[in-house]
Amino acid sequence: QDSNKVNNSSRILVFVRLRPMAKKEKEAGSRCCIRIVNRKDIYLTEFASSGNDYLRLKRLRGRHFTFDAAFPDSTTQQEVYSKTTAELVEGVLQGRNGSVFCYGATGAGKTYTMLGTVENPGVMVLAIKDLFTMMRQRSYDGNHAVHLSYLEVYNETVRDLLSPGRPLVLREDKQVMSLLQQGNQNRTTEPTRVNETSSRSHAILQVVAEYQVRDSAMSVVNQVGKLSLIDLAGSERALATDQRTLRSIEGANINRSLLALSSCINALVEGKKHIPYRNSKLTQLLKDSLGGTCNTVMIANVSPSNLSFGETQNTLHWADRAKQI
Ligand code: ADP
Ligand code: MG
Repeated sequence: QDSNKVNNSSRILVFVRLRPMAKKEKEAGSRCCIRIVNRKDIYLTEFASSGNDYLRLKRLRGRHFTFDAAFPDSTTQQEVYSKTTAELVEGVLQGRNGSVFCYGATGAGKTYTMLGTVENPGVMVLAIKDLFTMMRQRSYDGNHAVHLSYLEVYNETVRDLLSPGRPLVLREDKQVMSLLQQGNQNRTTEPTRVNETSSRSHAILQVVAEYQVRDSAMSVVNQVGKLSLIDLAGSERALATDQRTLRSIEGANINRSLLALSSCINALVEGKKHIPYRNSKLTQLLKDSLGGTCNTVMIANVSPSNLSFGETQNTLHWADRAKQI
């Protein structure tokens, strides 16, 4: 049964989401270098070009990856939520923590997937709405609460994006989108050479659900579950953007958090006693939401354009490693 597949193991489910070709990419003469087959297989094609003449592209070689699911560019936000995160929300209501990460290069669609737009809300908003719906149906005395914190890790410093200085208590889900949009505007974004609005920060939404259920003796007990939704910083290499020293330091710190995340996950799956959570701010924040009986989901975001071939290949390699552990 689907609902059992992530229950008592540290296995990570890994998904890939392909976004539509952007206008800019089309205008630059892009070709699509990704093909999705059977909803889970990805074929990546490398083209050879002579100089900047993209009209004379030639197919060079192909690569094949398989994931738990691969979402083509026509996939709706609701579908992505249902297939990646809905089960984790269900888990939170059984007292099990979970986390969902979006990973990929700047511009690949991480923030669209996590936050989305007012018209097309993403995983963060849909998860909270779903959580409220389920709690209303199940909470015995109707007394439930959701505590939100939306944090940024930038250059190994943690900052509160909502600025209340403590978790915000939500009584209903109506204002979630505008609240998170405001928070997102507080994220540290800096112009870089590859992308004017490149985000060098990790954004971490933590949702703690508190509610009452009846135990086997029919008495009302409090239950708590936590869901962490993480919009990771752009995964492109700091060096590739030809940055000056400050940017390199930032890049190293971004990598430190990503690296620490990988080592923690590795250590957990290998059953190691010591999990190196303390190696980065990101992993410190996620200490109680990774491994053990926690559910973990990775969504790798990629662009279809051959102009992003290198980044896409890196992203898929990273996702492939996560899948194997
Ligand atoms: P990232 O957060 O990875 O840097 P964004 O989420 O900001 O990337 O996406 C870059 C651009 O592509 C944005 O304008 C966004 O609206 C658009 N975009 C990303 N994914 C999709 C999608 N699945 N459907 C439509 N537009 C998308
Ligand atoms: Mg973003």
